Amino acid sequence: GQCSLVCPTGAIAVKDETDRFLDYLADPDVVTVVQIAPAVRMAFAEAAGAPAGRNLEGEIVAGLKKLGADFVCDTRWSADVTILEEGTELLHRLEHSEGRVDTMFTSCCPGWINHVEKSHPDLFPHVSSTRSPQAIFGALAKTYLPRVKKLDSAAIRVVSIMPCTAKKDEAARPQLAREGVADVDLVLTVRELERLFRTQGIDPLAIDPAPFDSPFMTEASGAAQLFATTGGVMEAALRTVCALAGSPRALPLRFEPVRGLAGVKEARVETERFGELRVAVVHGLKNLGPVLDCVREGRSPWHFVEVMACPGGCIGGGGTARGDNWTRTLPVRQRMVYEEDDRLAVKRSDENPDVAALYRDYLGRAGSDLAHELLHTDYENRRSAPKPLRFKELETKIKLT
Ligand code: SF4
Repeated sequence: GQCSLVCPTGAIAVKDETDRFLDYLADPDVVTVVQIAPAVRMAFAEAAGAPAGRNLEGEIVAGLKKLGADFVCDTRWSADVTILEEGTELLHRLEHSEGRVDTMFTSCCPGWINHVEKSHPDLFPHVSSTRSPQAIFGALAKTYLPRVKKLDSAAIRVVSIMPCTAKKDEAARPQLAREGVADVDLVLTVRELERLFRTQGIDPLAIDPAPFDSPFMTEASGAAQLFATTGGVMEAALRTVCALAGSPRALPLRFEPVRGLAGVKEARVETERFGELRVAVVHGLKNLGPVLDCVREGRSPWHFVEVMACPGGCIGGGGTARGDNWTRTLPVRQRMVYEEDDRLAVKRSDENPDVAALYRDYLGRAGSDLAHELLHTDYENRRSAPKPLRFKELETKIKLT
């Protein structure tokens, strides 16, 4: 027979991720739990062929329900949980730093975490151990959800809709699996979701919007919506941390200095318990070098630093549609995030009643042993060893010396 390296007929098709989602939906023994990241509803319009500026949250939920998803929930809920865990960590550092500045970095962006693990493992002690909202949702969807809804955890498949390609690597991290089973089974980007809807005949611009399944694992604060943009995790954390650490003046809800799209932003806030807190926000890894140098050399004035790998944060994520003029649509997406925060009634993560119920009924308190087991993680030094010299290079070296 003829020998060929490529399949000439195309018969050996590689299954793509959207097919895996369809397999879950078609399996009667599987319970599909879908989570939608904060930025997705702001970034889907362009992928679906609509102009930027339309929040298509209800249309996305309706499309997923039409496909047969059992639970459609909101990653904003677990973003609020992230703030409680990360805020507790920050307060703990402030209490034990004895007047020094012990900088803590955010940990919710896998693009940034990959960078630290590969290039700056010496900074691990400065990185928050709190898992990202995607990972927290996955862990709780396989532990807390089956408890409350009387489901078999083994039947659950968690599917994330994310603005981000790096969230696929994050879901595959061995640290985010229990007994060999990943907490998040599948990640689809915004562009993959658009393709899925298109191939399944769902027109997201024509479908009637639908609400999320229930407030359970969905109810969110405005702070959680802010996770979609650069500066948002910081603003969300400051709302809660300032409330818990006492603020001499009426607590500000908006922290203007961390808003907008400047590459590096800084802010100072006064607290009763710890005096002045200084924070910084960086997006795009190219802006990061000087900030990391300050921390490494012990010159950092910042107690808390937010890092997002993508320009603009997740609203500019690599899994979203980035047309020719996407830098012009970025401020539009950011404005939508701020408007959604304004619209939501609860502003602070620690005031989200559905998150309070999680702690009351299951975790105990933020930072408890169970919270640590399910909602925190560790990091792995992935700095590659220097490459061994190849024979040719060795020969040249010998000749030169
Ligand atoms: Fe992913 Fe980019 Fe958001 Fe980081 S900033 S979580 S890499 S989309």
